[in-house]
Amino acid sequence: MAEKFEFQAEVGRLLDIVANALYSEKEIFLRELISNASDACDKLRYKSIQDEKLLEGQPDLNIRLYFDTDARTLTVEDTGIGMNRAELIENLGTIAHSGTQKLVEQLEEAKGDVNLIGQFGVGFYAAFMVADKVEVKTRKAGEETAYEWVSDGRGAYEVDETLKENRGTQITLHLKEDAGEFLLEERLKQIVVKYSDHINFPILLGEGEDAPQINSGSALWMRPKSEITEKQYIEFYHHVSSGGMAVDEPLYQWHWKAEGMFEYTNLLYIPGMKPFDLYDPKRNHGVKLYVKRVYITDGVEGLIPPFLRFMRGVVDSEDLPLNISREMLQHNPVVAKMGSAITKKILGDLENMAVDNPGLFKDIWGQYGPVIKEGLYDAHQFRDQLNKVVRFHSTRGDDLVSLQDYIDEMKDGQEHIYYISGPDLDTVKNSPQLEGFKAKGVEVLFMTDTIDEFWLPVAHDYMNKTFKSITRGASELSKIAEDEKSDKDKKDTAKDSKKSGQDVSALIEKMKEVLGDEIKDIAVSERLTESPVCLVADESGADMHIERLLKKSQGYEELTKRILEVNDTHPVILKLQELASANDDNKDVLVDASWLLLDQARIIEGDPLPDPSGFARRMAKMMEQGLLDITPPAKKTKAKKKTSKAKPSKKKKTA
Ligand code: ADP
Ligand code: MG
Repeated sequence: MAEKFEFQAEVGRLLDIVANALYSEKEIFLRELISNASDACDKLRYKSIQDEKLLEGQPDLNIRLYFDTDARTLTVEDTGIGMNRAELIENLGTIAHSGTQKLVEQLEEAKGDVNLIGQFGVGFYAAFMVADKVEVKTRKAGEETAYEWVSDGRGAYEVDETLKENRGTQITLHLKEDAGEFLLEERLKQIVVKYSDHINFPILLGEGEDAPQINSGSALWMRPKSEITEKQYIEFYHHVSSGGMAVDEPLYQWHWKAEGMFEYTNLLYIPGMKPFDLYDPKRNHGVKLYVKRVYITDGVEGLIPPFLRFMRGVVDSEDLPLNISREMLQHNPVVAKMGSAITKKILGDLENMAVDNPGLFKDIWGQYGPVIKEGLYDAHQFRDQLNKVVRFHSTRGDDLVSLQDYIDEMKDGQEHIYYISGPDLDTVKNSPQLEGFKAKGVEVLFMTDTIDEFWLPVAHDYMNKTFKSITRGASELSKIAEDEKSDKDKKDTAKDSKKSGQDVSALIEKMKEVLGDEIKDIAVSERLTESPVCLVADESGADMHIERLLKKSQGYEELTKRILEVNDTHPVILKLQELASANDDNKDVLVDASWLLLDQARIIEGDPLPDPSGFARRMAKMMEQGLLDITPPAKKTKAKKKTSKAKPSKKKKTA
């Protein structure tokens, strides 16, 4: 008895989009079905190494296409692993991969743009672009019972027991009115050559014994580079990167054969679009391991390190035994050696690419830089190479800089690689703590990726220069030699290097009295040139940005107390110093000013104000006093239109 099932909600939405797509290249449905058939053959070939009986009575692994013009049906049949009842329901009724939600959203957005549809890997469901009914008959290798799955792609499907002589899967499409082209032999051949020529199993056209093979049927990666077209490389990428991600074009590809102690062939790609599961905590990679052309499994640990997990493709080893089990692959020395060599090669190439093809490198870094930086945290064996690949934004300008670029431009007396952390580039660029460094021409790297907070604390040094946060501890700017060139440049922008300040000890004492426990200390700043105050963390404390992250993610309550630094050249500070060293009449002003300065520093840091209404009250009071001193401009100075006091009626001309 047939049992009826509803599609998972996302599948329902996906099918709506797919069925109604006015997409012109509907032919890609065939690529998807053949890709699945090939996967099914791959899986069975691997299993049969351990259990030969699985191939009994039907040793061939192949894919067949045939059609019936009268019935208007096209069938894709394979002799692969097949599916049992539970697998049918799981695989063809849901979308298992984690990016489902996103995939559906992107597709819905793309609905208007028909060209986009074909770029997404909708897999099996692409069949409904050309068919208004799909029948799947399947029998799992080694099992007796076969099952049938039928759907018109509108919300539900039925599953029933059926009879099927051979193992494997047979998918019959009842073609829509406008899909008659897929009943033509020549058209089918053309599509197979275009998309599926690389498939590792024979694709036969017709039902008979002597049906001709229409693909070349050898593993693409084993062919010489000169015989592979760019199109074929891209099609192969689409085939090996299925499993949930969008079918985009790769940003870069490697195809090389390693000979020597170990022999293996690699065809690896950097995807153009980030894989959906890129930030999945499991950090699995998506490269397939083959042994002598036989597919073994995906994502073998140690083959590709987590910091390169965005890569897709194939590694085919000549050294591993064919009957290796997945368990035996873990901590396998051959896998480890291959993995290490592959990683070194890729890092070396990326390092060169940064110099030889900076545009491409920038694209790759823009997509995957934060992932690659994870290696600085957990892949010590590649640290030296990673140090040469990683790039940063910095105070130098818009271009990315390498650590070596940084070292090359260091000033005399500079002992550290300075950096500032923050949530995004805009925030860090405007940090007051940068002022003194900019004025002195000392470069500061911007660290705005979450991963930076992990690797920086464990990163020792680069070329004996240790990393140092400019929002923590003493700035030591005075030890660094003045840079004459930058000094001259800065003259124009009036951002002169920090002048020697004046004694502000009376003010500091007052402020300490007022602010008491709110802060750890108050000190004269070396790093400020324009702002009156800023907050920094204690040398021994955690970086301020890390603390904020911890606070957000783990509900950290108390922030560690900060040090408030004051700029002893700033007019506000100097005026307050004057008041502080005079007499006690100014006590109220000094109290208000102390709190305002602290709150101002907190706001710039993005810290919450503990007492916002107190801040507003004091601010209003200060403004009032400030405004009292401003006299409105006399009427005759019309030309020099000044601030707020201009009368509305006079403004007409300028509006
Ligand atoms: P993907 O291939 O990316 O996993 P698809 O939508 O193309 O997604 O296929 C969904 C799943 O259905 C496959 O992962 C596989 O488990 C199963 N499947 C599809 N076609 C076949 C087939 N011909 N033989 C065996 N299993 C299949
Ligand atoms: Mg598929």
